[in-house]
Amino acid sequence: MTRPIRAVIHTDALAANYAHIKACAPGSKVFAVVKANAYGHGLANMVTALPHADAFAILEMPSALSLRALGVKQPILLLEGVFSAAELQLCAKHDFWLSVHDECGMGWLENTDLSSPVHVFLKLNTGMNRLGFPAEQAPLLVERLKQCSHVASITLMAHFATADDPGQGVAAQRARFDAACHGLQLPVSLANSAALLAYPETQQQWVRPGIALYGSSPFSEKSAAELGLQAAMTLSAEVISVQELKVGETVGYGAGFVAVRPMRIGIVACGYADGYPRHAPTGTPVLVDGVRSCLIGRVSMDMLAVDLSDLPASGLASQVELWGKNLPIDEVALAADTIGYELMCAIAARVPVFVEP
Ligand SMILES: *Cc1c(COP(=O)(O)O)cnc(C)c1O
Repeated sequence: MTRPIRAVIHTDALAANYAHIKACAPGSKVFAVVKANAYGHGLANMVTALPHADAFAILEMPSALSLRALGVKQPILLLEGVFSAAELQLCAKHDFWLSVHDECGMGWLENTDLSSPVHVFLKLNTGMNRLGFPAEQAPLLVERLKQCSHVASITLMAHFATADDPGQGVAAQRARFDAACHGLQLPVSLANSAALLAYPETQQQWVRPGIALYGSSPFSEKSAAELGLQAAMTLSAEVISVQELKVGETVGYGAGFVAVRPMRIGIVACGYADGYPRHAPTGTPVLVDGVRSCLIGRVSMDMLAVDLSDLPASGLASQVELWGKNLPIDEVALAADTIGYELMCAIAARVPVFVEP
């Protein structure tokens, strides 16, 4: 018996979420965004789950090469472009699509000898102020790219800062994009999960969903289930010890939790070194043998404690779901003052991963 913790990746849920996104964006092609090891779900598992994805989008060259090594024949887009002229040559060699977001990347495109032309996503800044050329420069930049013999095609790309927030929405960024790009007659990619779900008019030729694929909601006001999405990862562990607490006794580091009544607690084989958030407070929901209970005291590196006081049938070897099919990751994230994205991405390498259809 090894340490009883596991992450299960539900490939059927990944496939269902992809199909749901396709149905929500019937006129668009879909980049399955698989950066950060597919938000913790594993690149290989995504390739298995989505053999017919239109395309994949990823961050860095080594991961793009891994996708090709896994047999991916579809387009692969490098969302942050390349970080050197040498990487640009690899794009030509392996047919990776790339974003170009600054003058440095533009210069590499104009001045590097390539074995074949590359597909370029011109990244425009419409207000996020992270990556991208000022949108107003689009016509000039497109002209330059058209002059460039190594450019096979040009797609315009931008990213929304507040598509998840109904109060702010996408209107201002859309207006800036439309003003700068109308008349250019090029394919467009704007929408992340939140935008494609909440603002169908942003879907255009290519959508770029990440979080929705993995079955977490990009919105704080709407659950994944309400959006028709299914959890693609279940993190669970077992109770490896049981403690009886007398009134006044404390739990774990810092002794911050004090029992105000006699309690029975279970010690679970999951800690922050597995990816469970250390800042999750007492009261954060967990499922013990399918029944809702809660976290008690401070999360430590390898263990956390849960309340078994009202669960007399549970004890040693009880199954604890930290998040997943039966306990939405977004509920845990909310309790821990973070977002589902961060929890998924933080799953540690030491957690054994299993795949279930
Ligand atoms: C990560 C990322 C996405 C996916 O965002 P979600 O909110 O997970 O859907 C889309 N586009 C870009 C440029 C990204 O970096």
